[in-house]
Amino acid sequence: MRIAVLAESDKAEPRVAATPETVKKFVSLGAEVAVQSGAGAGAGVSDAEYAAAGAKIGADPATTLAGADILLRVRRPSAAELAGAKQNLALICIMDPFGNEAALAGLAKAGVIAFAMEFMPRITRAQSMDVLSSQANLAGYRAVIEAAAEYGRSFPMMMTAAGTVPAAKVFIMGVGVAGLQAIATARRLGAIVTATDVRPATKEQVESLGAKFLAVENEEFQQAQTAGGYAKEMSKDYQAAQAELTASHIAKQDVVVTTALIPGRPAPKLVSAEMVRSMRTGSVIVDLAAERGGNCELTKPGATAVENGVKIVGALNLAGRMAPTASSLYAKNLLAFVETLISKETKQLAIDWDDELVKATALTRDGAIVDARFKQA
Ligand code: NAD
Repeated sequence: MRIAVLAESDKAEPRVAATPETVKKFVSLGAEVAVQSGAGAGAGVSDAEYAAAGAKIGADPATTLAGADILLRVRRPSAAELAGAKQNLALICIMDPFGNEAALAGLAKAGVIAFAMEFMPRITRAQSMDVLSSQANLAGYRAVIEAAAEYGRSFPMMMTAAGTVPAAKVFIMGVGVAGLQAIATARRLGAIVTATDVRPATKEQVESLGAKFLAVENEEFQQAQTAGGYAKEMSKDYQAAQAELTASHIAKQDVVVTTALIPGRPAPKLVSAEMVRSMRTGSVIVDLAAERGGNCELTKPGATAVENGVKIVGALNLAGRMAPTASSLYAKNLLAFVETLISKETKQLAIDWDDELVKATALTRDGAIVDARFKQA
């Protein structure tokens, strides 16, 4: 069995889908591994390190892919990048399929079996394969580090001979994996932290991290969590009540980190332009939802906007700013999934189509899109 690791074609993506550690493991499982030259450059891994771990280095995508049964990537490659790939190549990456149905159709037509790692069910067995969690955790940490760097004042209270510096007030909106790590990081830096979410289960989590919880806790809030653990899109009335509650709070904050997402939907708008203008000059908003349109009305995805002296950081791919760590965890997530796809006896690819992990993540198979959400009309 051959496993290929292609370099990312998106220049803004420094992460890589395999590390020398996971290459070694694949080799010990009986696989031949080919890594495209330069694939690890953004994550601080040289070709020599991959070679030392047992990989062959491919000069270009075509030679790296030749004969491969499995292709590992961070982001979805185009059908053109897969020219010459074997029929039934198993592509494992973050597929980003919503709104990209045509690209999926292209992969199906190319005979690729595409697995979307972001659809891995959040069940105990698949925890080690959960790329959303491994990357969101780092993004939440990094969002606070970015905020601290942009904020011209200190996070902790400092009592010095020259006077006392007050602690920064930090408000985290959205308490999923990223938000929880953002709370923990801001607390470690000494800030006074508050947080909000629409899922009732988050209240206890926020409080257990030493932060204060703030939310409209009405009947809709009690029902806001889906069976899968995600947030529902809230009604207009709820959103209005939430905005009223948070508006006066945001006006008193030094730093706001927003992380609110609803699967398959644009990010909910939680911070209006008016709320931004109510903040003190020098305050900072880091919008982790920038990639999905942003939680703040003034967010410019990929840029830092300034309004009334308030910086709104719309950085994309914050996990990518920690590429070595992010790659190491992502690569291990992929390894754990690949292990479930390989037969222990034959050491060949043996996909169990009845496995719930496969059912949840497979988007294309036998020339067609198999996930009903992405079938084109
Ligand atoms: P996410 O990235 O989808 O969303 C981030 C947060 O935004 C969520 O907490 C969500 O409730 C919140 N949000 C959505 N709309 C909002 C609004 N209008 N106002 C305020 N907040 C809003 O979330 P996630 O980090 O992927 O976590 C989703 C769920 O999955 C959580 O219950 C988490 O605990 C669970 N989870 C389970 C496992 C596991 O069991 N293996 C692993 C990771 C996460």
